[in-house]
Amino acid sequence: MDMYIYDSLKKDKVKFIPIEPKVAKIYVCGPTVYDDAHLGHARSALSFDILGRTLKALGFNTTIAKNFTDIDDKIINKLKETEMSLKELTEFYIDRYLKEMEALNIKRADIEPKATESIDAIEQMIFKLLEKNYAYKIENGDIYFDTSKDDRYGTISSMVRDDENTQSRVCHTSKKRNPKDFALWKACKENGDICFDTTFGKGRPGWHIECSAMIEKLFHKRGEYSVDIHGGGADLLFPHHENEASQTRCANRTRNSQILDA
Ligand SMILES: [Zn+2]
Repeated sequence: MDMYIYDSLKKDKVKFIPIEPKVAKIYVCGPTVYDDAHLGHARSALSFDILGRTLKALGFNTTIAKNFTDIDDKIINKLKETEMSLKELTEFYIDRYLKEMEALNIKRADIEPKATESIDAIEQMIFKLLEKNYAYKIENGDIYFDTSKDDRYGTISSMVRDDENTQSRVCHTSKKRNPKDFALWKACKENGDICFDTTFGKGRPGWHIECSAMIEKLFHKRGEYSVDIHGGGADLLFPHHENEASQTRCANRTRNSQILDA
């Protein structure tokens, strides 16, 4: 039996044709764990649980990975209100999230990667983007993705517009080249900042890079570049999924190839 799924890129229902016959690899953007889950989290979890169960029932060997964002500005702000460590705080909310989803009879994902446990993959991807000139480092050590280098930026969400007012305001207050550019890496600024050591300096990842890096780490084999289905809440389409798609496309693009632009 054929299965049709709505594709945000094509803006249409398309027949599901996996990379490998009868194998379905799914990556879903999970919660940022700084507070209790809300209905939107449950809706996303339920949707992709139903999708996974349906594919399994149709005979697909299905793997679902759903991440936990366990390092982020919102988490750092929350930490300032508590006496907890980063690990204590994020594990507390991960545990509550899992219990709440279990109460809704939602199955756990097969793989549940965390950003803080994927720094090696994040470092590798940022390094690749810097090397290929799709990313640039500014004076304070932050690293940005250069959206102007990707002519397909905006194709998923169709929400990117050049706004001269925004451009002048953002460029005045930040050293990034373009208001659409987004942080891949936030350098350590003060003593006590939560930092990870990498070849391009101490700091922490921006939000968008973690999912692209985790997909590379978990699913890439034999030169394949992607999962079959990438999902998440509709509110993530822009900027998160747009940015993820763009950086993955550019990190894997060779000079004469645009293999990810299908
Ligand atoms: Zn994501």
